[in-house]
Amino acid sequence: MTTTKQVLNPATEEVVASVQQLEADEVDEAIEAAVSAQREWAAVAPGDRARLLRRAAERVGEANEELAWLEVRNSGHTISNARWEAGNVRDVLAYYSGAPERLFGRQIPVAGGLDVTFREPIGVVGVIVPWNFPMPIASWGFAPALAAGNAVLLKPADLTPLTAIRIGELLLEAGLPEHLFQVLPGRGSVVGWRFVTHPRVGKICFTGSTEVGKSIMAGCAEQVKRVTLELGGKSANIVFADSDLEKAAATAPSAVFDNAGQDCCARSRILVEASAHDRFLELLEPAVKAFRVGDPGDESSQMGPLISEDQRSVVRSYVADPVRVAFRGSAPAGRGFWFAPTVLAPVDRGDRAFREEIFGPVVTVVPFEDEADAIRIANDTPFGLSGSLWTRDLGRALRVARALETGTLSVNSHSSVRYWTPFGGFKQSGLGRELGPDALDAFTEVKNVFVDTTG
Ligand code: NAD
Repeated sequence: MTTTKQVLNPATEEVVASVQQLEADEVDEAIEAAVSAQREWAAVAPGDRARLLRRAAERVGEANEELAWLEVRNSGHTISNARWEAGNVRDVLAYYSGAPERLFGRQIPVAGGLDVTFREPIGVVGVIVPWNFPMPIASWGFAPALAAGNAVLLKPADLTPLTAIRIGELLLEAGLPEHLFQVLPGRGSVVGWRFVTHPRVGKICFTGSTEVGKSIMAGCAEQVKRVTLELGGKSANIVFADSDLEKAAATAPSAVFDNAGQDCCARSRILVEASAHDRFLELLEPAVKAFRVGDPGDESSQMGPLISEDQRSVVRSYVADPVRVAFRGSAPAGRGFWFAPTVLAPVDRGDRAFREEIFGPVVTVVPFEDEADAIRIANDTPFGLSGSLWTRDLGRALRVARALETGTLSVNSHSSVRYWTPFGGFKQSGLGRELGPDALDAFTEVKNVFVDTTG
């Protein structure tokens, strides 16, 4: 029986599209087709594979506006963010289009022969993505996977399949072979789980919640299936008293409220050295109140709505008593899943708003005593994805950066994702790294071959 899912515009609650949800037998057919397509793809000359990926990057680049506006309607992302996201897909494809001719093995000295290594494709890779950044996160999986000679099955999140479907069409238009890259919308427990259980899928590249990630990892263990995980976060933004407090306060809102806080890297715990705490809050308040929340299609908006009513109820639950709202920004009233940027302070360190990933525009501000206290509080979490620290003392910046149990850190800024540098988490924020020069390792198997030359 065919089922469809209505996709809503979260800023207006209007239906944008109806998308067919695939069943397990249809996923099986797609997997079989991918197996054949992968064999042919791996046999294509490296230079030709590279050329096709460059063409795919160009095609995505030409469609930047179309993809960006589709994301505005499907996900409520601001148009400026959505343009960056579509551009990121283009750039990730272009970056990994340099890989096919450069996927080097090694020659290792041995007696009596020649020893060489090859980096073989894994085969069929299942990429499962969440709804918060539908385009970039998909490309961080599919671009290096394709470049390394694999076929890819992409399962978009149920709420946000539209840009993934369009990217699938664009890659076909660019000349990628049929069935090499297939976008398969449907429920996670059906489509995504079939990737986990089907023996012809050799690897899962999963981004999503820590809870689902754990079940994927356990499922992969059955077949010792390769798996990379990019999971949740509760990142700290550590502000020392010697830092540029004005800049730290001015940038703190976008570091947590960007994408309405639905960002695994959101700096949702602001830790401020006690001597600067009150001054920091004074500076933060006008910055939060000035944060422009509104129509995501408006060029000047900095934040749109949350993705769904369900997500809004979850976020709201963290702002209920007994936690204290220090101050809030504003958000439109009426239709759409709006939620105003909210600052909680003072907050007990045991409060769930301080400990759990909220995935909404809510930030907690907590004072710390000294460097050791800051490190201890920042690390007192099962997560370890991202973070920032602000200080003018270079020695301290490096000491604290080395001591933090987190994968992606920035000093005196909040940048975290560049396609040419590695991205991923410590602890329960993930397993493996995406992006950067080493991402191809996660999509290849090393094969060692010894050739006897004595005979
Ligand atoms: P989710 O875990 O609910 O879903 C993620 C994807 O997995 C979706 O496509 C979903 O359909 C699928 N899925 C659900 N159950 C499944 C199952 N049993 N088997 C296979 N697939 C299944 O996450 P979400 O709510 O879409 O996204 C929010 C979460 O993603 C947050 O926790 C956030 O921190 C995390 N995230 C992490 C990163 C990162 O890079 N570390 C990036 C973005 C989002």
